[in-house]
Amino acid sequence: MIQVMTPESIPSLVAARAADMIKTRRQFHAIPELGFEENETSVAIADRLIAAGLEVETGIGKTGLVGVLKGAKPGRTLMIRADIDGLPITELTGLDFASTNGRMHACGHDGHITMAITAAEILSDIKDQLAGTIIFVFQPAEEVVMGALAMIDDGLFDRYPADRVLGTHLWNQIPTGVIGVNRSTVFASADQFRLTVHGKGGHGAMPHMAIDPVAAIAEIITTSQTVVSREVPPNEMGVLTFGQIHGGSAPNVIADNVTVEGTVRAYTSDTRVQIMQSLERISSTVASAMRASSTFERIHGTPPVINDPEVASWVTRHASLVVGEGNAREWEPVSVGDDMAEFNDRVPGVYFLLGAAHDDATVASRGIEGHHNARFDWNEDCLSLGVEVFVRSAVDFLT
Ligand SMILES: [Zn+2]
Ligand SMILES: [Zn+2]
Repeated sequence: MIQVMTPESIPSLVAARAADMIKTRRQFHAIPELGFEENETSVAIADRLIAAGLEVETGIGKTGLVGVLKGAKPGRTLMIRADIDGLPITELTGLDFASTNGRMHACGHDGHITMAITAAEILSDIKDQLAGTIIFVFQPAEEVVMGALAMIDDGLFDRYPADRVLGTHLWNQIPTGVIGVNRSTVFASADQFRLTVHGKGGHGAMPHMAIDPVAAIAEIITTSQTVVSREVPPNEMGVLTFGQIHGGSAPNVIADNVTVEGTVRAYTSDTRVQIMQSLERISSTVASAMRASSTFERIHGTPPVINDPEVASWVTRHASLVVGEGNAREWEPVSVGDDMAEFNDRVPGVYFLLGAAHDDATVASRGIEGHHNARFDWNEDCLSLGVEVFVRSAVDFLT
C-alpha cells in the first residue's frame, strides 16, 4: 500500500502499529540473551527487517546487525542505534510473558529493539517519499560495554558512514510522556581497571626479608580516596570504587602479589581521564615508596554519552510535537554507562531518555523496581512515543 505521508499523518502511521509493538516487545522479552550470544534475537530482528524490505547484514561485531533503508532519491544518512542484549538475572516480575531461561531483559532493550524495528517498518512504507538513507544498527553486548566497539572494529562506520546518529534508552524512573533530551551529558563514563602490586613473598614472622604487597595496596586504596575529594573540582561528578581485592594464601605468609579491581565513573571525558591518571600515579608512587612496584591496566570501558547540542535542539523540536512542549526537556544525567557513547563520539548524535514509568499505584501493587532488578518493568505506552520521535526526525532529515 502506498501511503501519502505528511508530518501530520505520522501519529496515525504509528498508532496503526501500537498493538503489534506490544506483541513484538513481549516476543523479544521472552527470549533474552547475554552479550555476544544474541543469536536467536538477531535472527528474529533480521527476519523482520528483511520482511520490511531492508537490506540486512548480520554478524557485525559477532551478533550485531545492520538494516539499510534507502529512500527513492539520494540524500543524507541517518543512523538509528538500538542495543539488544539482556542480563544474567532470573526474572521475578510474574508477567505472563516473563522470561524463563534465567536471563532477563531487565534494562528495556526489548523495547529498544521493538522501537527500531517498528520505525524501520513505518519508514519503509513511505520510502518513496524519502531522499537519503537510514541505517538501523542493532548492537550486541551493551551491558558489558563492548558491543559498540566490536561493531566499529568490524568496519561499521567504514561501510555505513552516517551524518547523524539517534538512539534512545527508555527509563522506568522517568514519567511516561516525558522525553529527556540533554544538550550535553546523558550517561556517565564507565571504566573498569585492574591494579596489581608486586611485592616479594616471605615468612609472616620476617617481614624485613619480604616486600609486603598487602600493606602497599592498603595505602594505595586509602590515598586514592583523595582523588575525588581533593583533585576533581567540586562541581564535577566523579566516582572511584574498588570492588574486589584478591591476594595472599595463609595468615603467616606474605604474598608475592595483590590485585584489586574497580570502576571509575565521570560525566566528562576530562574528569574520566583525570581520575584514571591520578589512580595510576598514586599506585606507582605509593608502591615504590614501599619498595614494591605496580601495574595498572584498564580492562575495558566507555566514554560518557554526550549529546551534540545542535542535534539536541532538533530532536527536542520533534519530541515536543510528540509529547507536548515542556515534556521534551533536559533531564538530570544518570550515573550509569552506555556504549552509545562510541556512536556519539564519532557522529553528531543524540541519545534521548524515554520516560517509561508505570503509575504509582501499579508500581506499588506489583512491586516494580528499577533497571537491572529482577522485578524491573516499564510502561509499554512509551513505545509509540519513541517510535514517533524516530519517524518524525527521520522524515525531517530525509525530506
Ligand atoms: Zn542496563
Ligand atoms: Zn540499558
